[in-house]
Amino acid sequence: MKNILKSVGAKRRVLIVEDERINREILGNILMTEYEVVYAENGQQAIELLQKEADSVSLILLDLMMPVMSGEEVLKICRSNDELSRIPVIVMTQDDAAEVSSIRGGADDFIKKPYSMPEVILARCERIIELYEKKKLIDSAETDPLTGLYTRDFFFEYIRQLERYQDAQMDAIVMDIEHFHLINEIYGRGEGDRILKKIASVILAELSNGYGIACHCSADTFYIYHSCTADYRGLAERILKEMAAVSFESAKIRLRIGINQNVDKEEPPEQWFDHAKLACDGLRGDYTRQTAYYDSAIHDRQLYHEKLIRDIDSSIANRDFIVFYQPKYGIEGDRPVLRSAEALIRWKHPELGMISPGDFIPLFEGNGLVQKLDRFVWAETAAQIAQWKKKFGFALPVSVNVSRIDIFDPELEDRLTGLLNQNGLSSNELLLEITESAYSDNAVRLIEVIHNLRDKGFRIEMDDFGSGYSSLNMLTTIPIDVLKMDMKFVSNMLKDEKSLKLCELVMDISRFLDVPVVAEGVEEKAQLELLKDMGCQIIQGYYFSRPLPAEQFEALIQKEEELAAKKS
Ligand code: C2E
Ligand code: MG
Ligand code: MG
Repeated sequence: MKNILKSVGAKRRVLIVEDERINREILGNILMTEYEVVYAENGQQAIELLQKEADSVSLILLDLMMPVMSGEEVLKICRSNDELSRIPVIVMTQDDAAEVSSIRGGADDFIKKPYSMPEVILARCERIIELYEKKKLIDSAETDPLTGLYTRDFFFEYIRQLERYQDAQMDAIVMDIEHFHLINEIYGRGEGDRILKKIASVILAELSNGYGIACHCSADTFYIYHSCTADYRGLAERILKEMAAVSFESAKIRLRIGINQNVDKEEPPEQWFDHAKLACDGLRGDYTRQTAYYDSAIHDRQLYHEKLIRDIDSSIANRDFIVFYQPKYGIEGDRPVLRSAEALIRWKHPELGMISPGDFIPLFEGNGLVQKLDRFVWAETAAQIAQWKKKFGFALPVSVNVSRIDIFDPELEDRLTGLLNQNGLSSNELLLEITESAYSDNAVRLIEVIHNLRDKGFRIEMDDFGSGYSSLNMLTTIPIDVLKMDMKFVSNMLKDEKSLKLCELVMDISRFLDVPVVAEGVEEKAQLELLKDMGCQIIQGYYFSRPLPAEQFEALIQKEEELAAKKS
């Protein structure tokens, strides 16, 4: 800070408060070399000046004995005022007893009268100013300006410091607000900020009842480190009650609180909070509870996930991942016709046995590793289509799943066209399934990618349609070739009227967009008949076949070929 001011030729401003002219001049002359000096002849004048320009004053040099208002009184006013207390004060006196009382009253240092060694005076002024400026810098990095709570880095730093002096049982608590981004979007950032401030003030009030510290960790997340006795359900309730009293909108907020009780002091503090966060994340979408404790089940699940993450590379190398194929049948004519297939990954883990994609795909989607799997599946599938094309003399198109994260791969288009070239395939033989939720994530990027892929001849199927939030408006702007109806509509269509109506709605939308529908998850003839009546053209489901390993799927193609030959 000092250097910045110097580099622009600016000087710090020092206020000399002194009633005796000769003293003012001597001191002024000493300081003038380094500082811009302003003067007040008594306490009253000094306070008036400070009230107008407190910001610009870096140091006050204060005489104690003055008419109108004494130095002691000035000191008292400065130390009881938020803004003025940020300015350091050096008192000037001949009297030893006054030195002691003024230091007690909040002075930072003193200079003896009569003024003798100018270098000592300059050095003292410089030291005090520097000390205050450093503290100001630290204060600003230490706390988050919005909530006044610690920032993440300082929070962990202070936990480490605290731990050096105490070994009390402590809890790590992570608190976050469900759908906070929606609150910002719907009610505006002002409302979002008000909520955060309110939560912070309630946390601070709670902390004053016990022993602990807290930080505003990220937009909607707070970390609290608290002595073990707190009543967290009560804490959540108290915060919610306070929120309701502030404004109507924010009464709708839902908090999630994850608690790692009695943290293991052998682990690093970051890990205490990672564990509390896992408990907190587990509450997502659970509307029956607001608090959860980190326990052995969460711990085991975490270890399991860590193992899966550790093993992915070796399993790709050892070909423990296998691609299965599930047929899609056209049902328009009298007899179902094999039209295409979907490639679905399976993990034959050497120790854990068969693992379903439902267990590892969401995990790998969360950390980006799914890209590795997708590339493996695309390569396997392209080679398999080429092999069958050679064997049967025609290509059966197969669709692969494209994760939302693949959409951000700048080489996606080149990667896919590269696979076609390597295997002698055309772009309508490798179909691409993109899940609907990717459409609501980043529609602009997605539309661009889909345009590019379609320009290259790829056909795009919108997977799990009905599970996401695409608006009709968005659908009309995204060029897709096929809608894959979300499986849960089909699963429930015979059981409840609403699902049946939703199936009909998807069919209406497909007619509006002029694209065919694939119905997934068809297990019974009755479902097939109903869907056929609604105008659905393609069916994928256990009714026809489960996903099959390549050899079995090859036998299925063979059988279908023979059947077709017999018919003709
Ligand atoms: P999805 O892409 O919607 O795939 C359809 C899922 O429905 C498959 O589950 C399939 O086995 C299942 N299914 C098909 N017919 C029926 C039926 O009649 N009844 C029932 N109950 N289920 C049926 P699977 O193979 O377990 O895959 C689940 C999800 O995992 C897939 O949903 C997809 O989102 C993801 N996935 C699978 N393989 C890959 C992959 O290679 N890459 C990516 N990114 N995701 C994949
Ligand atoms: Mg799919
Ligand atoms: Mg699907």
